[in-house]
Amino acid sequence: MNCYCAFCKSPRRIYRKRNINLINVIASAMTAMVIMFAIWQSFDPRAIIAFVVCLAISEVFIKIRWRLSVVCRACGFDPVLYIKDPQAAAGKVRDQLDVRKQDPKYLLAKPLNLPTITPQKAEALQSKAKGKLVSRSI
Ligand SMILES: [Zn+2]
Repeated sequence: MNCYCAFCKSPRRIYRKRNINLINVIASAMTAMVIMFAIWQSFDPRAIIAFVVCLAISEVFIKIRWRLSVVCRACGFDPVLYIKDPQAAAGKVRDQLDVRKQDPKYLLAKPLNLPTITPQKAEALQSKAKGKLVSRSI
C-alpha cells in the first residue's frame, strides 16, 4: 500500500495487514497436516500442537513485518511509538536525522521535506506546552 510519512511527507509503502486471516489459518492447518503425515504417517491428535505453533509463528511474523514497515526509513518516524510516547518518537527521529547528517551516502540524496517552525510559532508552542517542543530546527 502506498502512503506518505506523517513527518517528512516522503512516499512509502507499508503493510496494512496486522493480524492473521483465514488464509493463514488454512495454510497453518495444511502445514500441520503435512507435518503430521511426515512424522506419524496417520491422523494424530498431536498435530493440533503443530497447528497452534504454525498459527503462532505466522501471527508473530505478520506482526513483526507490520511493525517494521510502519517506521519511516527516511526520517525514522514511528507513528506507533508516537501515540505511546511522543518524546521517545522525537528522540528516534533526531537520532535518525543525525545519522543521516553523518552518512555520506545521503549527501546527494533528495533532502527531506521536514516541517519548519518559525520563531513566532516556536514561541507560541513553548508558551502553550512548556518544554514539549523538541527542536527548533526540525
Ligand atoms: Zn519520514
